[in-house]
Amino acid sequence: MSAPPRIAIVGAGPGGLTLARVLHVHGIPSTVYELDASATARDQGGTLDLDEESGQRALSHAGLLEAFRPLSRPEGGELRLLGKDADVSLHLLPPEDGGGNGRPEIDRRALRDLLLGSLPEGTVHWGQKVRAVAPGPAGRPTLTLADGTSVETDVLVGADGAWSRVRPLLSDAEPVYTGVSFVDGLLNDVDTRHPAVAELVGRGSMFALADEKGLFAQRNGDGRIRVYAAVKAPEEWSRSGLTDRSGPGGPADPADPADPAAARKRLLDLFPDWDEGLRALIADSEGPLVARPIHALPIGHRWDRVPGVTLLGDAAHLMSPFAGAGANLAMLDGAELALALAAHDDLETALNAYETAMFPRAEEAARQSADHLVDFFQPDALRILRDAFITMTAAGGADR
Ligand SMILES: Cc1cc2nc3c(=O)[nH]c(=O)nc-3n(C[C@H](O)[C@H](O)[C@H](O)COP(=O)(O)OP(=O)(O)OC[C@H]3O[C@@H](n4cnc5c(N)ncnc54)[C@H](O)[C@@H]3O)c2cc1C
Repeated sequence: MSAPPRIAIVGAGPGGLTLARVLHVHGIPSTVYELDASATARDQGGTLDLDEESGQRALSHAGLLEAFRPLSRPEGGELRLLGKDADVSLHLLPPEDGGGNGRPEIDRRALRDLLLGSLPEGTVHWGQKVRAVAPGPAGRPTLTLADGTSVETDVLVGADGAWSRVRPLLSDAEPVYTGVSFVDGLLNDVDTRHPAVAELVGRGSMFALADEKGLFAQRNGDGRIRVYAAVKAPEEWSRSGLTDRSGPGGPADPADPADPAAARKRLLDLFPDWDEGLRALIADSEGPLVARPIHALPIGHRWDRVPGVTLLGDAAHLMSPFAGAGANLAMLDGAELALALAAHDDLETALNAYETAMFPRAEEAARQSADHLVDFFQPDALRILRDAFITMTAAGGADR
């Protein structure tokens, strides 16, 4: 029996971990290199709604769908669309059958823990930043870790997000700023400490839209509400001391502390005549505000086959969050890549089969997310989004 291929996965995000898990289900070992020092080193961010056709399908291939159900929140499918006067323009409730809208929410931390807990001990090598990659002789790509160690592999998968170190082996494409920045903040223990905000947001998501900007809020499973202020702004704006800033794909830079009170005031000044209940989302938030300039790779990004190397998730098809698709696609990519590697003895045949299905799927989602980004920042965004949500849910019969 031939030895299994040496599979190195760079990045323990939803995509990389799903790949490792589905490989494991098929008896194929892999090694994940992750720059975070540990599973708890960094706040994983807010909540994700997992689509039946992508995120949930990936979990099914991973054998984790049943374990996912009790961790998920179907009620998180509740959605409110508001104007800047806080009047509710549309209120969608999840169906009463408890199945949500087919996209139950799960906190990112819970999802990561679920995937991590399903992997053999030692699969993830924490605190291992991949510094460089090279094609290597005879199609055996090599990666170099920050401590100088070199690792030769048979398959190298870049699951390392927006600013992938693996991508340059395959493509010259780089993420481009979309013209939109998010600033995100947190409110803790909302039902007790911020009941008015809790009431305004409800059990799921709230979008307030006006003046070509937005205040978005989503309830997390841990009594928190995560808030995103979304504005059209030059990229430098988020680097201008308004807030702490997020490094590429990473956490706030602790060496760059903006004065949180001053940052809040500057942000609030962008929403001067918005209802006080909505402004409270920013005013009452706690801890640092984190700026996230939103970048995207070109729609339809693809590459020619390079022996033994491929990409998945944001590394392959970074898109704005306006289609709510990025993590879902990353997980489906990971699952399908694992299935292809399990199905084909020849590695190039497997990588080719995976990419052939992934490229058009990613292109369609990237186009949708770019279109939605434009919609969210139109002067009459509230009407556009209201019509779009009504059309989308009409077939599903959500309560309104
Ligand atoms: C504000 C916002 C809201 C979003 N909301 C949604 C949503 O509701 N639904 C949805 O589906 N998607 C959403 N997304 C998109 C989603 O977050 C991403 O698409 C998803 O996380 C991509 O997963 P990934 O595994 O490809 O990469 P990532 O999650 O970025 O994981 C990459 C991993 O690689 C590691 N890494 C990076 N570089 C290296 C290196 N050199 N060496 C070792 N490790 C490295 C990182 O530390 C990280 O752990 C949202 C994004 C944003 C910004």
